[in-house]
Amino acid sequence: MKKLYLTLSLCLIPCFAFSWGLMDSFVKKQKEPAYKNFIVYKLLKGKKEFTACFESYEDTMVKEMLFNMQKALNSVLDNVLITIQKSGRTQEFKDILAVLPQNITIMQVKHQQECRSSDGIDFIVKSKNTRIPVDTGAGIFYGEQGFAYWKEGGKYWLISLSSDETDYTKYAITQHEVSHLFGLADQYKEYGNSKMYSLVNFEDITKINTVMSSVKHDKSWGLTCDDAEGVINAMDFILRAENYKSARLKNGWGDLCGRSYVYIDGQPVRDTDLSIAAHNRDLFAGWTASGYPKEKTPDFVKKASDKHAEISRGMQNVILNRDKWEEKRNNIETEIGRLQFELDHAKDYRLTPAQKRTKQQKIQSLKKELETAEGNFKILNDLKATSAPITDSELQNILK
Ligand SMILES: [Zn+2]
Repeated sequence: MKKLYLTLSLCLIPCFAFSWGLMDSFVKKQKEPAYKNFIVYKLLKGKKEFTACFESYEDTMVKEMLFNMQKALNSVLDNVLITIQKSGRTQEFKDILAVLPQNITIMQVKHQQECRSSDGIDFIVKSKNTRIPVDTGAGIFYGEQGFAYWKEGGKYWLISLSSDETDYTKYAITQHEVSHLFGLADQYKEYGNSKMYSLVNFEDITKINTVMSSVKHDKSWGLTCDDAEGVINAMDFILRAENYKSARLKNGWGDLCGRSYVYIDGQPVRDTDLSIAAHNRDLFAGWTASGYPKEKTPDFVKKASDKHAEISRGMQNVILNRDKWEEKRNNIETEIGRLQFELDHAKDYRLTPAQKRTKQQKIQSLKKELETAEGNFKILNDLKATSAPITDSELQNILK
């Protein structure tokens, strides 16, 4: 989640590719949904005021960080609203517009010395000198960085912002970090990007204009249409998980940024042939405008829905199989323990040398079985924790 700006622009000519992605830690499947830690979830639940404690040696810096945080949070909301309004598709997005607040307020919590998490604080924000040299391999460049991550134990977001950059860059860093609170993943590297809920499978994320990418020193791209699409997809992810119903959530929606993506089940769909993709996108727009009549569902939508259903069945199978292999592993361990106990007390059990050998051999073969069970459990456990798309057939291959 580190943001690294380089003074040397990575992109020498303007790059017009776009990409958004949700953080793996946002879509992660676990008992208590991970998205609940994100500000975007709280906003959708009607929370408009957040508390923050600011840690800095200078009062002016605290004031500036508070101002930037509040402005940046509101700019993310504004960007979504403006993007929808500009598209003229407010009717289609009325489900989101109905629950999205217009304004976010940050209440400053003051502490004598250091910020402590004990007071139900939503954010702890620290200032840091960040003009540090970065060795790119092609020479030393000065870069700046910030970060934002969820402190599970403390139940708050820890955010670090630059204190020694220009005002413009300080704000750009704040906007980037705050966007993580809406579930958006970094776009300057694939790490932490969900494979399913992102454009990483379609776009070269190293060539992008978004607040989530690296930006040229003092020349932030600011929030883009792409960032708005990402936030809408994050909100859709939550609304769907919370069993919220709307025609748009059920059927999907066409790209707002002049590309040819259609988002079905929150996942981007686009034909590899760009002219077919554009045709599909138009077909979808027509279908949306006529109120999604079931009998006129475009073929590519049906195909994508079937594919997504297969993938989610695959995830269900991952969970079921994981539980099965875990049980198997536990049973084998118990059995090995029991046999070992008998061998350790061979005299009490009056075991003959032949019986001892048999038991030792049995332990050896059980240990081999245990290796397989443990290996499969680990693979499936890792898969369960990620959002990596997996189909039934892929799962069958893994378990072979
Ligand atoms: Zn970041």
